[in-house]
Amino acid sequence: MITEKTRTGEEVANLLKTLGVDAATYNGGSLTVTSPVTGDEIAQTVETPAADAAKAIDAAHQAFLDWRTVPAPKRGELVRLFGEELRTHKNELGKLVSLEVGKVTSEGLGEVQEMIDICDFAVGLSRQLYGLTIATERSQHRMMETWHPLGVVGIISAFNFPVAVWAWNAALALVCGNAIVWKPSEKSPLTALATHAIFERALKRYIDEGYDAPVGLSALIIGGRELGEAMVDHHKVALVSATGSTAMGRAVGPKLAARFARSILELGGNNAAIIAPTADLDLALRGIAFSAMGTAGQRCTTLRRLFVHDSVYDTLIPRLKKAYASVKIGNPMEDGVLVGPLIDKAAFDGFEKAMADAKATGATITGGERASVGGDNAYYVRPAIVEMTRHEGPMLRETFAPILYVMRYSDIKDAVAMQNDVGAGLSSSIFTNDMREAELFMSAAGSDCGIANVNIGTSGAEIGGAFGGEKETGGGRESGSDSWRAYMRRATNTINYGSSLPLAQGVKFDV
Ligand code: NAD
Repeated sequence: MITEKTRTGEEVANLLKTLGVDAATYNGGSLTVTSPVTGDEIAQTVETPAADAAKAIDAAHQAFLDWRTVPAPKRGELVRLFGEELRTHKNELGKLVSLEVGKVTSEGLGEVQEMIDICDFAVGLSRQLYGLTIATERSQHRMMETWHPLGVVGIISAFNFPVAVWAWNAALALVCGNAIVWKPSEKSPLTALATHAIFERALKRYIDEGYDAPVGLSALIIGGRELGEAMVDHHKVALVSATGSTAMGRAVGPKLAARFARSILELGGNNAAIIAPTADLDLALRGIAFSAMGTAGQRCTTLRRLFVHDSVYDTLIPRLKKAYASVKIGNPMEDGVLVGPLIDKAAFDGFEKAMADAKATGATITGGERASVGGDNAYYVRPAIVEMTRHEGPMLRETFAPILYVMRYSDIKDAVAMQNDVGAGLSSSIFTNDMREAELFMSAAGSDCGIANVNIGTSGAEIGGAFGGEKETGGGRESGSDSWRAYMRRATNTINYGSSLPLAQGVKFDV
């Protein structure tokens, strides 16, 4: 009899084979990979020994020395080919994302689409790495700024966006002239192996087209946090872009600061939405449902706190409860399923602890039970609505699960103050048709988050805008706007084309 375990494992192995991953990398290794869909073991990935990781960083540094002199638009050609390869393999990679981290089909595919989108963005950017020409007070002088490649960029990624976050960083880092080393989450090494195999295909095509790409330009190192720590400590890594929990950022940030290395920190969120009296409640309902329950509450931008105006609370919340009761939970690859599994038991334990803590505050909880789907080792839950009377307890922290804390408010200023009164500052939104409220929310006196939306939910960002947040979210920005600057160093150049040497500020120094 073919068990579910062998079916999932076989499906994963077939996908990896199709994507060109060497079977020796995910068989017989020490890192066991479990699919949250069934709770079954699906692979034993080979971990990268620390010494090999250090060698990969050294090789990347060597590669950087060549890559930095390749003209940016030619670097862009490699990223263009990578985007093409991703288009070709979108279905397989998207499915693998679903199997390895439990995303519903459209979200697995959506994650790969996001990789394609950032490639397109980066290719355009490769012809737009502009600096400024600046007015100088000295005659016959010109002042300008130029942007140069930085070095080796280390990328540490989280399980919940196992491939897109790497692509956000990799595509920009490469066109900016850097070499890259990737330490994916220990919970999602298979999608990383597959992504890197796809990248290597693009690299081969690039070389076949007649371009030079230095050996070691992009490396993948597989392992746990120790490997991430080694990368953070390595003096040849000029920038570490680290995505994960605030606890991880607290460990990583000071170490990088101590050696004056650069960091992009993309950490936890505790995102809120405000539902104002004039809100379009149909729109709000859909926005809340997707933001709070999508990806089983495992997005950094997941909606976790909802402040609802007194005048609409008793209309909206019963409708929301209805939507929660009807949402289909189950195998994320089945049609109609919107809520897949939590990643593992630790996530489920965190969920249960938050439920218990909420109960202790006297909150009213709807949903929040383990759902009878999947095997014993698969953790599916019914998303919870937790009605709070005070802004306190578990509502103030991020629990990476589908828990929506709901509270009434009567004054918009109080709602904004509560929304800002948490450690994290990633995403926020307001549903209103009152222009004054919307503008207030986006103003200096409004949301203190990196993302502040109007009439859409907190999650579902797109390529083009800078992504990231303030306070305990780490302050990093990725993927859009001018975030490329973080991957380059800036030089200010002053050129004298005259025959005298005037000094700035009228200083005289005649010798
Ligand atoms: P995690 O912090 O457990 O792990 C993330 C990565 O950091 C992993 O690769 C892990 O091995 C590595 N790591 C952990 N400790 C480290 C250390 N001391 N030194 C170096 N590396 C270390 O996070 P997770 O459970 O995989 O992901 C969920 C968390 O990530 C949530 O808090 C979520 O909000 C956050 N997240 C943030 C963003 C964002 O853009 N702001 C995006 C996705 C996820």
